[in-house]
Amino acid sequence: METIEAPNVVVGAGAMGAAAAYHLARRGEPVLLVEQFAIGHDRGSSHGAARITRHSYADPRYARLMPAAFRAWRELEADAGESLYMRTGGVSFSPPGSDYAARVAASLA
Ligand SMILES: Cc1cc2nc3c(=O)[nH]c(=O)nc-3n(C[C@H](O)[C@H](O)[C@H](O)COP(=O)(O)OP(=O)(O)OC[C@H]3O[C@@H](n4cnc5c(N)ncnc54)[C@H](O)[C@@H]3O)c2cc1C
Repeated sequence: METIEAPNVVVGAGAMGAAAAYHLARRGEPVLLVEQFAIGHDRGSSHGAARITRHSYADPRYARLMPAAFRAWRELEADAGESLYMRTGGVSFSPPGSDYAARVAASLA
């Protein structure tokens, strides 16, 4: 059996594992990314052409992460040499009596 040694091993090349491996590699760290299927396969959560990323979270813990996340998207676009993020409008709904929209507004403020 072949043996491969690496100081950093990431198991799973979905969005999370691929991002972890990318950031390790970007820091100059050797990294082995192990995936059981072909890259871009349709059997994980990361399958598909698009995801929403937004500042408008009701949970302030997520909202606080977003400035850094948007910076990271711009860095990734610069590294990739292509546009990956398409800015659109968004609307948040909540039923009467729910404070969801107010919490989203507070996050945006
Ligand atoms: C329909 C849908 C819509 C979504 N919309 C949004 C959205 O708009 N915005 C947002 O932020 N998030 C959204 N999400 C959530 C987001 O897509 C997931 O949180 C994210 O893709 C999870 O990535 P992951 O790498 O953790 O998991 P996965 O993409 O599932 O990757 C795990 C990988 O590990 C591999 N693996 C597992 N075990 C092994 C093993 N033993 N050996 C080798 N490889 C292994 C799998 O094959 C897989 O490729 C959505 C999710 C879904 C399903």
